[in-house]
Amino acid sequence: MSWRDIQCGELRPDHVGQRLTVAGWVDTRRDHGGLVFVDLRDHTGKIQLVLKESDDAHELRNEFVVQAVGAVAARATDAVNPNLATGEVEIQVESLQILSRSTPLPFQVGDDTVEETTRLRYRWLDMRGERMQRNLRMSHAAVSGIRRTMDDLGFVDIWTPAMTRGTPEGARDFLVPVRLQPGKFFALAQSPQLFKQLCMIGGLDRYYQIATCWRDEDLRADRQFEFRQLDLEMAFVEREDVLDVMEAAVVGAFEAVGRTAPTRPFPHISYDAAMAKYGSDKPDLRFAMEIQDATEATRGSGFGVFANAPCVRFLVVPKTFSRAEHERLVALAKEWGAKGLALLSQVAKFLSEAELEAFGVPEGSSALCVADTEETAAHVLGLLRLHLARELDLVPDTDVFHWVVDFPLFKHDEETGTWTFMHHPFTAPTAGSEAWEPGEPHDVRGQHYDLVWNGWELGSGSIRIHDVEVQERVFKTMGMTDEEATSKFGFLLDALAMGAPPHGGFAMGIERFVAQLAGEPDIRQIVAFPKVSSGSDPLTGAPTPMPGDVLAESGIRVLPQEDPPKA
Ligand code: ASP
Repeated sequence: MSWRDIQCGELRPDHVGQRLTVAGWVDTRRDHGGLVFVDLRDHTGKIQLVLKESDDAHELRNEFVVQAVGAVAARATDAVNPNLATGEVEIQVESLQILSRSTPLPFQVGDDTVEETTRLRYRWLDMRGERMQRNLRMSHAAVSGIRRTMDDLGFVDIWTPAMTRGTPEGARDFLVPVRLQPGKFFALAQSPQLFKQLCMIGGLDRYYQIATCWRDEDLRADRQFEFRQLDLEMAFVEREDVLDVMEAAVVGAFEAVGRTAPTRPFPHISYDAAMAKYGSDKPDLRFAMEIQDATEATRGSGFGVFANAPCVRFLVVPKTFSRAEHERLVALAKEWGAKGLALLSQVAKFLSEAELEAFGVPEGSSALCVADTEETAAHVLGLLRLHLARELDLVPDTDVFHWVVDFPLFKHDEETGTWTFMHHPFTAPTAGSEAWEPGEPHDVRGQHYDLVWNGWELGSGSIRIHDVEVQERVFKTMGMTDEEATSKFGFLLDALAMGAPPHGGFAMGIERFVAQLAGEPDIRQIVAFPKVSSGSDPLTGAPTPMPGDVLAESGIRVLPQEDPPKA
């Protein structure tokens, strides 16, 4: 026999007269001389129980788990609760059984003023509330929609190892000691990148996985140590084929959660245009406010700050600023790395008519200018653009998906003076540019693309290198000797040398995507049991020190910690 006939939120006037058993959590209890009213809750909603005074009825406290048997009755007209789906009915309880008690609660279920660490410490209570129920169920629905789409498109779900050799995705690896081989370590996969490429070389054609990935990076609103991604790879394809499948997966997820899907195809913007107009490779395109350039117009200016700067860029903002408001923005710009942030109206006296005209600022608006290197100007104005759009309420309630394409293949590391990959070292250069000199890769573009939703980077992908010589040239450009390349990636070079089809793929962060779908500000609200920014799990208290004998088994000795991180 089941514990219940029906779920709490399902009772309707149709059930009046039936004798039913319900079970759930006590949400609230009210004593009304002679009668006790209890709202009984499960994830579907609440139903009012009416109990005669009895010892059990008095004993009930919030979050007790109870089973009640009784007749469903229509509520008196003045007792109908129009805010509750079950508000027209109640259960006149004949017998009640307490199935489980609860100690006094650290917080009431559904209280959204509770500090996050406390919510996470008692996540099971937090999960009973509407927010986490909705988010976790939405996450499931989105993943189901994605899986259905991938299955329909003929993709094969292939499991790849979590414990592997480090794959360079730009983060630190989490290491796993191996008792059978003390002193040696696996790395937890930062992504299944090389395995999915090997699947293509293995003739699998269309691979996907909802893959868990591990990256040792500082935790942020959109980052956890471990996360899932829709990881896919396809053989004999070009960029548009991959983008097409990804768009189908996004639409599949939108449909699965009952939301209007974004229109396909998603627009493209080049990396160069994104950096120049929005100062970011993941621009929020829900609003315009583009960065503009006045470098040429101010080359011969009498205003030395502009004339002598490598570049002059500005934002036109539909507002005039007081001195104090401007000073606050200057302080922000300095924090972000600018030397200053000029308000055009304040420096206008140093500029000629023609120069001022080039800025073209309409009445009632202001131009905020940065005179600096291209990189700093883009970075600072990009952040300022986002800051002001939020502050001035210029962000419309729409969804904009777009692709960023045509990234450079390499970037220069100013500190070490070396070249490194922009995406990962397996991304193919654009056709025709494969023969660069390893010391001079400045202008080589990669077949790399990113998916951005309202300014959140959802994921990245690329067409991969399938020619072993090009792969060797990338490694050489990154400063690897042949020996290093062979020792780290010999298996890939061997595979590429044995009949590798052209291939490409993509990976989209599931939690980032669902957080956006759910309108949540960070991915912790989408993850059942996340870590907080210190890297700890408030629920289990992990990570914890390990006893010396356990460490010794794996050949590990821990160095003394001067300032041990708090658990
Ligand atoms: N492996 C890449 C990542 O995890 C995605 C890809 O290139 O497919 O970001």
